[in-house]
Amino acid sequence: MSSIPTLGQASLLPPDITLLERGWLSSNSLLLHDENQGAVLVDSGYGSHQEQTLALVQHALSPRPQPSLRLIANTHLHSDHCGGNALLSQRFGCEIAIPPGEFDAALNWDQQKLSYESTGQQCPRFKPDQILHPGSLIKQGERQWQVMAAPGHDPHSVILFEPESGVLVSADALWEHGFGIVFPAIKGEELAAEQGFAEVEASLDLIASLPARLVIPGHGPAFNDLAGALQRAHKKLDYFRKNPMRHARHAAKALIMFRLLEVGSQPRHSFVDGLIKTPVHQALWRAYFSRLDTGAWTEELLTELSHHGALKLSPEMELSAC
Ligand SMILES: [Zn+2]
Repeated sequence: MSSIPTLGQASLLPPDITLLERGWLSSNSLLLHDENQGAVLVDSGYGSHQEQTLALVQHALSPRPQPSLRLIANTHLHSDHCGGNALLSQRFGCEIAIPPGEFDAALNWDQQKLSYESTGQQCPRFKPDQILHPGSLIKQGERQWQVMAAPGHDPHSVILFEPESGVLVSADALWEHGFGIVFPAIKGEELAAEQGFAEVEASLDLIASLPARLVIPGHGPAFNDLAGALQRAHKKLDYFRKNPMRHARHAAKALIMFRLLEVGSQPRHSFVDGLIKTPVHQALWRAYFSRLDTGAWTEELLTELSHHGALKLSPEMELSAC
């Protein structure tokens, strides 16, 4: 790895919590320290960053009296949250705990159920050992982290709350400016969409009921203004609920940007070819935009992203993220 990225909002956090914040391809990772039994790592980033995640975790643990990991806990199993599981569990000899809904799929490595097949994203295979049951506690040092179900972005996602410090680990259920794509809503089925959006709302209501003083989201820096974030999230949710097609377009663009961050840069035509073959991209097109030719729709999305300054096209027709 080239350099150690800076630790996000370190000053806001209690000294027994380390936030490893990176770009969008990797989720935030969080170390919950315990000087006696070793640390818990919440989420482990994207697979292509696994060596960097390992180095960051080793670096953050090195000054500690007990520089070991005892557990990796995943808020959900999207590829950007559990791509480091395999390498880190092997290096530290630690167990992996995941939410209940996908335990069997992960155990059998059913890549279709785990979304990696449909999104075309990569995740090195790992073996889950424990279930993070909503209603249970992760006891770490003096702290008792409450595990809560927070479906919406992902039907199986959990969030963590620690009442003493008021720290909420909100995963992709709430960011400072919005929330993650509502995956159940992109299939183009009205019922699935409404259920997905209703779950987002219920998870936001759950979060609003918690006396949280500091939020550590799945992506981006930690923040204090929970009320402001909830207000923005509700506004976005209302908009998407009224315009599921806008949500689908937003989802397609988010998935394109994820892919582009992953490949770095690629000739425009091969990037478009790859996208057209990706099941989730096809499904979005079929559900919402099939009045257009799939290639034309894809080109339109790329043009829009380029107008917004999210990606650029070199004179040699190479696409890359800005
Ligand atoms: Zn996610």
